[in-house]
Amino acid sequence: PTQQERFGFQAEVVQLLDLMIHSLYSNKEIFLREVISNASDAIDRLRFAILTDPELHEDDEALEIHVAYDKEARTITISDNGIGMSRQEVMDNIGTIAKSGTREFFQALTGDQRKDATLIGQFGVGFYSSFIVADQVILTTRRAGLPAGEAVRWESDGRGDYTLETVEREARGTEIVLHLREGEDDLLNDHRLRTIIQKYSDHISLPILMPETTEDGSGEDAVVNRASALWARAKSEIGEADYNEFYKHVAHDFADPLAHLHAKMEGTYEYTLLLFIPATAPFDLWMPEARHGVKLHVQRVFIMDDTGQLMPNYLRFVRGVIDSADLPLNVSREILQSSRVVDSIRSSAVKKVLKLLKDLAEKEPDKYATFWKEFGDVLKEGVAEDYSNRDDIAKLLRFTTTKSATDEPDTSFGDYVSRMKEGQEKIYYLLAPSPAAAKHSPHLEIFRKKGIEVLLLGEAIDNWLVTSLPDFEGKRLQSVAQGVSDLGSMEDEAEKEANEKAVTELGGLVERLKKALGDKVSDVRTTNRLTTSPACIVADEPDIEMNLARRMRGSGL
Ligand code: ADP
Ligand code: MG
Repeated sequence: PTQQERFGFQAEVVQLLDLMIHSLYSNKEIFLREVISNASDAIDRLRFAILTDPELHEDDEALEIHVAYDKEARTITISDNGIGMSRQEVMDNIGTIAKSGTREFFQALTGDQRKDATLIGQFGVGFYSSFIVADQVILTTRRAGLPAGEAVRWESDGRGDYTLETVEREARGTEIVLHLREGEDDLLNDHRLRTIIQKYSDHISLPILMPETTEDGSGEDAVVNRASALWARAKSEIGEADYNEFYKHVAHDFADPLAHLHAKMEGTYEYTLLLFIPATAPFDLWMPEARHGVKLHVQRVFIMDDTGQLMPNYLRFVRGVIDSADLPLNVSREILQSSRVVDSIRSSAVKKVLKLLKDLAEKEPDKYATFWKEFGDVLKEGVAEDYSNRDDIAKLLRFTTTKSATDEPDTSFGDYVSRMKEGQEKIYYLLAPSPAAAKHSPHLEIFRKKGIEVLLLGEAIDNWLVTSLPDFEGKRLQSVAQGVSDLGSMEDEAEKEANEKAVTELGGLVERLKKALGDKVSDVRTTNRLTTSPACIVADEPDIEMNLARRMRGSGL
């Protein structure tokens, strides 16, 4: 045992704790779900570590989670015999927020309790939620493989600092003792705790045990939850609430998912997919180190988090589990990278997710609109990234157009094509810094006049989108800001005549402009595409799109 050392919380932790206690109080019992979720993760990680280092097992046979309470002491204790933490790991994981997206999270806070509660949920509630009900938390842990004398005790009242000391602990894993706040005694109740566990943690595949209540209080611990992998159960046995709670556990999310798919595949390979589409984007979605959200299992044993082998980048928002019956339990990252089994699982999982999105778009357009708002720009990456599914991805895209009632992206390529004018051969689009800016572009004048719809592309990714997608169902995509606006057979005789007349009448002016502008332009010409503006700038057909050029300059490329 060493001396107790005191450490200050990171400033963000203090702020987060304060927010959490206030905005999540009405949902206070979720602390148990979070602590159990961590215990389950810790056991999953131990099981995986044992595959390569059997000594870590330490003859501690059954991997399980225990929950107990003490009415006198007013405590609830949660313990697991999972991987545990070393001193350094405790310092890195508890008392600090080392997550990507932290800065964005704090910037997004509004001070409005309801909105902030949702944000906290998206950011991740986790271990700190214990302080919603506890005013003192003592975590004792020994990392698997370390000697009993190198266990660590972490203690805090959640107000600004914590203490650490090295202690003796025979048992591997982590024990958390929560000293309840004044007035939280309703939690010191066998029935209450069982109900909470069954409500939030029934899907946990490990046994969660509580002491059986007997007259003299000497009962053995007995299992409270179903303790079987949710995805391995028959669909008919699983309710919506089970799926939702399972999602919160795998995704570390606080809100229900938008949609899920659960499929048992039996063919060349046997595997189960249980995949979810979240309702809100995580804070790290756009960061280079963004987490992939699918967990690989082999015969129900957790193997590893996806690092891009199971889901392509453009589906990095998908959360859930893939469980294979064909991979070896000791599969390594290297094996995964060149595994035919994984290739096959991945390609069918991608198709299933795209089908799920297609169904959502058709059957629940409101939910699809939510999905699009949160993840649409990520999905667009797929057009360039996944050639084999390009057509299916293209059908899922949504745009704001000159015919949209609002700035909301409500139009698919399919909608656009079905509204094309007689004689119209191309899909017209305009790239602009935002849909609002696009609406006032002079390039649209002739299209407005003729009633031709134009897609208004205002996102950075749209530049790459139109470069990667030359056509949709045989209709070429054409920028209205590029080259001679060739309306082909949609131009009538009178217009052609007017144009020819302009060429002769304005010839002198054009020559003078050319001389005045010199090298700054490659050409000056008359046009019939403007109805109210006197002039506009267009890009040469083979040249790089102006908007793209502007953005590339801006990004320093
Ligand atoms: P998250 O689970 O989303 O990572 P938490 O706040 O719930 O966030 O937990 C923070 C970290 O603390 C975990 O990622 C893990 O490294 C560590 N941790 C928490 N509880 C345990 C536990 N019972 N055993 C081992 N490590 C734990
Ligand atoms: Mg957690």
